[in-house]
Formats: sequence, C-alpha cells, structure tokens
Amino acid sequence: MIDFSMARAIERTRDGQPLGAETVAALIHAYTHDDLPDYQVAAWLMAIFWRGLTDGDLTALTVAMAESGAILDLTAFGSNVADKHSTGGVGDKTTLVVAPIVAACGVPVAKMSGRGLGHTGGTIDKLESIAGFDAALSVARFREVLGTCNLVLAGQSADLAPADGKLYALRDVTGTVESIPLIASSVMSKKLAIGAQIILLDVKTGRGAFIQQETGARALAAAMVRIGTLAGRRTVAVLSDMDRPLGRAIGNALEVREAVAALRGGGPPDLRELALHEAATLLVMAGVAPDEHAGMAMATGAITSGAAWEKFAQVVAAQGGDRRMIEDPSLLPAAPIVRTIVAPISGYIADLDPMPLARAACSLGAGRERKGDPIDPAVGIVLHATLGEYVAAGAPLFDLHARTDAQADAETLTALAAYRFSAQPVAVPPLIKETIM
Ligand code: URA
Repeated sequence: MIDFSMARAIERTRDGQPLGAETVAALIHAYTHDDLPDYQVAAWLMAIFWRGLTDGDLTALTVAMAESGAILDLTAFGSNVADKHSTGGVGDKTTLVVAPIVAACGVPVAKMSGRGLGHTGGTIDKLESIAGFDAALSVARFREVLGTCNLVLAGQSADLAPADGKLYALRDVTGTVESIPLIASSVMSKKLAIGAQIILLDVKTGRGAFIQQETGARALAAAMVRIGTLAGRRTVAVLSDMDRPLGRAIGNALEVREAVAALRGGGPPDLRELALHEAATLLVMAGVAPDEHAGMAMATGAITSGAAWEKFAQVVAAQGGDRRMIEDPSLLPAAPIVRTIVAPISGYIADLDPMPLARAACSLGAGRERKGDPIDPAVGIVLHATLGEYVAAGAPLFDLHARTDAQADAETLTALAAYRFSAQPVAVPPLIKETIM
C-alpha cells in the first residue's frame, strides 16, 4: 500500500518540483516491494531524464536505494574506512595499486568491485587471474579479512542495493540509462551500502570511458560528490583522461603484472602518477596526511619501503590467492603465443585510441560481451610504445598475447587501427584533469 499519489509525484518531477525525502523513500520502498507498476516508475524515470532531480531528492533517492538492502556496518573499523571506485576504462588497474598503498599507510580500505563488461575490465576479473584468489566473500569473511589485512578486495554481493538492480532493468528498456542523476544515484547507492566513510571516485572521460564527453563526465563527477557529501560521506572525484589506455598492459594477468611492477616502484609513469595522486588524496581525506604534498610523500614512501607491495601480497594470500604469483609475476597465467607487431612507419604516436585496443583484447578473450561469459586471464595486449613517444619503422609497437596464431592474425589490424603517427612531436594532454570536492 502506498500513502502518496504516484501520479502527482510524476507531475511534480516533470515540472521540476521537489518531492521531499519522505516521498522519494516511500516511492523506492513501494517499487522494491512490487507495490508500484513499472509504467508509473518508467514515467517517473523519464521525467528525471529530462528534468533532473533537486539535490535533496537525488540524495534521498540514492539513500533509499542503498537502504533497500543490507548496509554493511563498518564502524568497528573506525571512522576512516576508505573506498575507491572507477567508472571504468581500458587498462585501468589503478585500484590494485592505490588500495594497498593506502592500507599500508594505516587507512582501512574496504573495496567491493564489479566484473568487466564490454570494453572495460573489472578489478575482480584481474584478481582472479591469481590462482586460488577468492572474491566471493561472505560478510563475515569480508570483515575478517579487513580486520587482519586493513584491506579487503571482494566482489559485489548480489543483495547490495537491490532497488538499483530493479531500476536499472527498467531504465535499460525505457531509454533512461544515459541520465546523469540516474547513473550517479545508481553508482553511489552501492557505495553508500558498502559503508565506507571516505569515497574516492575516479571518473573517466574520453573515447574509452563510459561517458565520453568531458562536460558529461564532469557533471557526473559533481553529482556523485554532491550525493556523497549530502549523505555524510567524505567524497572526492578525480576526473581523469581515458582518451588513451592507462599504462601499457590490457588484459587480466598482464594488468596484475603491471600493478605489481608499480607497487615495486616501477611500472609505467601514467599509472604511477594516477595511483599516487589518488592514494595521496585518500590519505588527506582520512586526515593522516595534512596536505597533498605530504600525502604524496607517504604514498611514495609506502612503495619504496616495500610496505605497499607486502600489503598486496598479504591480502592476496588472505583471500586464498597464490602469494608466489605476486612474488614472481612470471608465474601468472601466460598466453602460449606472444606476437610482436612492429611500427609500420617512423613517427611520434599522435593518437592512441583505447577502443580498438579494447576490442582486440576482448576478442582475444580478455573481456566479455555478455554478463557471465567466461574470460581468459592470460591474453591481452602490451604496448611497447605509447602516446607521444617516437618509434622508428620496424621497431616493436605492441605485443599480442594470444591463445592461437589465428587469433593473433585476426586482431593485428584491429589493434593497429588505434595508432596515428605524426612526423612532428606531439603534446600529450594531462592525465589528471581535475580533482572535484
Ligand atoms: N554503472 C552503474 O552502476 N550504474 C549505472 O547506471 C551506470 C553505470
């Protein structure tokens, strides 16, 4: 039974009028319990699509979605539990570097991640390339690992924010997926349900991002920061470039290898730059570093001392993973064929479109087209040369890690289409565009 008029609620949202937190909460409760018909909720979603929601209603919607399922109570771990979320991209293994750094600096990190879909990889798929690694943790195990390691890296439980699942299915068939407030509330409902007090959002923009246009990505980042802040969580968004791949490895075990290299003080400079910035930001948000400069020094120190790498090895082992694969990443799954593709001409790499690389990696087996598809942990692409760098004709451009020669043949041209060369040096745009608080 509902004690508000859904028709009136649709009209008010259509006209840009607020509903109030109580009505929004009642609406979400009713819909989750099958007390509202899809056609009315679909009309309300379309009204949001065109008119948006007031900040108050948007926060109420997000909180109500979070509260439609169980909320993890992490207060026993203090008031500084941190979470980090990326809107997804190509070669984005930042979480595997940031989370151990921050945990090694004394800030608990409770992370629930999704699996990859389409062109973006998922943190859990990457971690599962480590033999034995178990991401399907019960709440009790989640808390136990967080308690012993100060870090936990789990898959998202199915009962997290169930209203989001139901609303997303309706959005999917009513042309209302691409709405900033609806995306923001969907992402943030799951963040609020995980229970961390500190939330860092890495919002990607560019051709390899979920929202390609910078204005849209910026609006999404700002909406999520407003929701998090109004819901009482310390929330910051980093707007970062995904108009090129991040780092040089694309593919699950290959990305773990690259993340381990970064945790050991090596790895590609762009991955290090983003990971250290995000780690420093989280350390400032947690109050353990007074400013970004000090946070950066702490984060760098955790790498040079080996503490961040050790933290990663510890959490992998605690979740059943084979620690030896972190000690010696050459033990990670490896593809039988490694085909080196050379530069067709000499020049500076003026453009490196992440999408052809993602498509090639996906076709090699590194990604999935449909939910539930199996993936191959070993395959993918490793770049020898990246945006802005000079390559001579015939020099190695990238390696295809494939199961068969036929697959390597098939994906060579797809991946090559990512590159555009210039005779003149090119300016590489900044990776970190803005930090939004
Ligand atoms: N990811 C989500 O979790 N929700 C959306 O609506 C879009 C992307």
